[in-house]
Amino acid sequence: MELIRIPRIMQDTSRGHLLHGRGIGFVPTMGALHEGHLSLVRRAKEENDITMVSIFVNPLQFGPSEDFNKYPKDTDGDADKLRKAEIDVLFMPDASSLYPAGFSTHVEIEKLSEKLCGAFRPGHFRGVATIVTKLFNIVAPTRAYFGQKDYQQAVIIKKMVKDLDMGIDIVVCPTIREHDGLAMSSRNAYLNEEERKAATVINKCLVQTTELIKSGIIDIGSIRRFMKEKLSEKPLVTEIQYASVYDPETLDELERVEKEALLAVALKIGGTRLIDNMLVKV
Ligand code: AMP
Repeated sequence: MELIRIPRIMQDTSRGHLLHGRGIGFVPTMGALHEGHLSLVRRAKEENDITMVSIFVNPLQFGPSEDFNKYPKDTDGDADKLRKAEIDVLFMPDASSLYPAGFSTHVEIEKLSEKLCGAFRPGHFRGVATIVTKLFNIVAPTRAYFGQKDYQQAVIIKKMVKDLDMGIDIVVCPTIREHDGLAMSSRNAYLNEEERKAATVINKCLVQTTELIKSGIIDIGSIRRFMKEKLSEKPLVTEIQYASVYDPETLDELERVEKEALLAVALKIGGTRLIDNMLVKV
């Protein structure tokens, strides 16, 4: 595994591979790697000649009161995991090389970025779209891999790639979960023992709401009420930001579930914000 820190060297390395006709699979991450990230890496390895992973905690996608300064870091552990996974290149740039003084260009995906998480994290998806564009320009992947765990992010990246003719295949991979159903996330490390137990309510809520919908309860009022009641069973859930059913493409809230729907939840347990989702077909 080659470790590259300088964007220009990364770009030249990628161009060399492409000139030799080798396809590049790319997995962008913020590090503190877990099995969710590694499932994307394995899929990229299966489907491409060369596999590249980036680790960069992107300051642009964190709000002023968010966890940028305490975001979990495990650089040595991450590098070990990626070496064992036999990837070809780990790209780990410094913030100053990606955002030098005077940086002033941003990418904004209208409408989709304002919904769901966007309503609670202003500027978040602008930061995500900007860094992903930069990484795509530097790494020049053939395919890029994202997790369904961050469903809205995947929809926004697909839209950006289409609207801006980036010509990269976006592959969305299933959410990897702990044994009790909690979606793996680097932020789970913030939870204490009690909060960790309470967090299982998110997956339980999604599974039970899926069953409710499949039993014929398809109107938004009943579904929303059921989800809020279920999540509120845990006193450690301090804030439910959203919990409802949405159109999987437009992310608009649905009046009735008639074909495929996205069940999505964002809440806070103590000070930790967690999200999860599930697709349901009727
Ligand atoms: P992050 O490091 O949190 O920015 O995540 C990097 C990539 O890993 C994103 O595409 C995430 O959607 C994906 N990812 C994070 N957690 C999971 C998970 N539990 N299962 C599958 N993919 C995940």
